[in-house]
Amino acid sequence: MKTKGIVTGIVSNLVTVEVDGPVSENEICYIESHGVKMMAEVIKVNGRNASVQVFESTRGLKGGNTVEFEGRMLEATLGPGLLSSVYDGLQNDLTTMTDVFLKRGEYTEPINREKKWDFTPIAQAGDTVAAADWLGEVKEGWLPHKIMVPFSFQGSYTVKSVKEAGSYNVDTVIAVLTDASGAEVPVTMVQKWPVKMAIKGYREKPRPDRIMETGVRVIDTMNPIAEGGTGFIPGPFGCGKTVLQHAIAKQGDADVIVMAACGERANEVVEIFTEFPELIDPHTGRHLMERTTIICNTSNMPVAAREASVYTAMTICEYYRAMGLKCLLLADSTSRWAQALREMSNRMEELPGADAFPVDLSAIISNFYSRAGMVILNNGERGAVTFIGTVSPAGGNLKEPVTESTKKAARCFYALEQGRADQKRYPAVGPLESYSKYLEYPEIIGYLNKTVEEGWVEKVLSAKNIIRRGKEAAEQINILGDDGVPMSYHVSFWKSELVDFIILQQDGFDPVDSLCPMDRQRFMLDLVLKVCEKDYDFEDFEKCREFFKNLINELRQMNYSVYESEQFWAYNETVKKMTA
Ligand code: ADP
Ligand code: MG
Repeated sequence: MKTKGIVTGIVSNLVTVEVDGPVSENEICYIESHGVKMMAEVIKVNGRNASVQVFESTRGLKGGNTVEFEGRMLEATLGPGLLSSVYDGLQNDLTTMTDVFLKRGEYTEPINREKKWDFTPIAQAGDTVAAADWLGEVKEGWLPHKIMVPFSFQGSYTVKSVKEAGSYNVDTVIAVLTDASGAEVPVTMVQKWPVKMAIKGYREKPRPDRIMETGVRVIDTMNPIAEGGTGFIPGPFGCGKTVLQHAIAKQGDADVIVMAACGERANEVVEIFTEFPELIDPHTGRHLMERTTIICNTSNMPVAAREASVYTAMTICEYYRAMGLKCLLLADSTSRWAQALREMSNRMEELPGADAFPVDLSAIISNFYSRAGMVILNNGERGAVTFIGTVSPAGGNLKEPVTESTKKAARCFYALEQGRADQKRYPAVGPLESYSKYLEYPEIIGYLNKTVEEGWVEKVLSAKNIIRRGKEAAEQINILGDDGVPMSYHVSFWKSELVDFIILQQDGFDPVDSLCPMDRQRFMLDLVLKVCEKDYDFEDFEKCREFFKNLINELRQMNYSVYESEQFWAYNETVKKMTA
């Protein structure tokens, strides 16, 4: 018997309901109004009263409307067909619609139930299996999509039978398991999982031990992100957060990409819709969309659905990670999600924390970031979820609560600076404020020394030092004037400009320079450092300036000629295997 209720109060999309039975936090319910059923989530229970947030506009909702509780949390549907899909936060398939607007109370099927997939068995009758173990495989595009024992299964099971290779739709029973009591349990290719809970079913989650290449120098060379690592990009409006994230999405060394476009301006969301399907994957030469899922908030959805969208996106990543794949989750912007939390908490009249955000904002953000990570699966294979979110602090103030809380949770910090963006020094990542904590991990240092070159991390630190000294010199030159400082100040300043122009700056739209493989990054940094090691003496600062300007032009040319001679990159092992 489902618990039922009656609407007693409405404040925008926060609705209070008097219930006739037990309800739990995060439970899903449907409110009936004018013949449509609107989905809502329980956020607070107090005796016979439940506060629920409605995922849609509550226009026309009345006291006395009836509510039916589902006895389950908000769930994602997981199965073959998630890739190339465009969903909203509730996993409504937005590609099946004629425009980006769903009618109120309309929910669509997330995955195609009729489509046939070529299935090959992995497990055999008699095998002992547990949640997340692989039973079989289908090809989703060119990626191996594992059909697993559902994550909700507890304890161990014996495989009674697995379907022979063949072409089946997702609802076909592809395996029958028996539980400890001998009862038979059918398994199909689809399962559901509550989005706010992390998917387990792996052996361990060790510290990351390698980097995820992005082809972007300010990241890979200066502040690398680990495979299974976390990072965030705070920056004022128009400084390049979205461009940088899209570059990472296009070029990042990952098998599966999930983009969560969260509450940014409607035209940006529409841009993703239209642009992404056109993009060609530099790793495979095929459509990037084949290995991408996009989750976005349509503008007709109230803030409540923003929260759902980041959790749904994370759940989809964890699902693919359990298949032994490298997943990359990008969320733009997590500030909009935090603002949704704030609106709701204010409506509930909870005691507010800093800037009226909920008091547990930090914990919510940390919990979310901690779902990323590299894991060793039960069968010894590795999988990873790398997560990079953007934060859009009002007025570029990095001391506001969302940035501060995210700083505690994420290990890489890519601070976009208004000043650099104004000077068109893209990507506008500030070289001195930004950091990657992974550069302190012995595992990562060892990895870089082995795969890039011996002593690499020291080289990176010396490049940062050149920039720091250049900045100090520039300040002195500003105060004392060009003639008021020794020549060495000019040399320091120009050495830092050299690092800035050759290493830091990278045109996100240039067909060659937008993507810089690690080999070329190493070559360029080595070259720049060699030049900077030399002592220079000039008669006057004009000569110094001229010398370095010419040098910058020369090295930029070099960047291109190296590109032409180098073997085109193909470092993604899975891609190599699968497209062979
Ligand atoms: P945000 O998301 O922070 O509001 P965008 O990512 O939309 O900002 O960037 C704003 C504009 O800045 C872009 O339209 C582009 O013209 C320019 N831009 C940003 N990053 C780069 C880059 N790496 N290379 C070239 N231009 C860039
Ligand atoms: Mg943006």
